Amino acid sequence: MRRTRATQATTPPEIHKPDEQWRQELTRQQYDVLRRGHTEQAFTGRYLYAKGNGSYYCAGCGNELFRSDAKFASGTGWPSFVQPASEAAVELRTDQGWLLRRTEVVCRRCGGHLGHVFRDGPRPTRRRYCINSCALSFEPTPSDRDPGDGQPGG
Ligand SMILES: [Zn+2]
Repeated sequence: MRRTRATQATTPPEIHKPDEQWRQELTRQQYDVLRRGHTEQAFTGRYLYAKGNGSYYCAGCGNELFRSDAKFASGTGWPSFVQPASEAAVELRTDQGWLLRRTEVVCRRCGGHLGHVFRDGPRPTRRRYCINSCALSFEPTPSDRDPGDGQPGG
């Protein structure tokens, strides 16, 4: 028995794709970060200094992960957020392989590696979600978009 619609779960359905498919759909860098847990080089990400209003979606599956109002300048070299868009958007996994214990942040929907969360963020959450730019895809809110003047294709 397989139910396609859970009545009480807030967790979005998980996306499972063969590794080969991820390789084809993602850029090399996105694949290395999302599927292999790599970290992009500090101060190189496209969203590091981004300030526009909108939402950051998973580059792998389109799940809404963070909102621009939770973004802050941490000075660490990666986009940083005080909280996810919703509790159900991400999953936290304790990563105990190293001397330093870190908490990994993954996309709840596709399991893609996003970054890590630390406890040195600003008030009120004190959390710093340190996220790779290439794991994200930004969409500005409609009101923040250029109204446009009828030009096709912008
Ligand atoms: Zn995802």
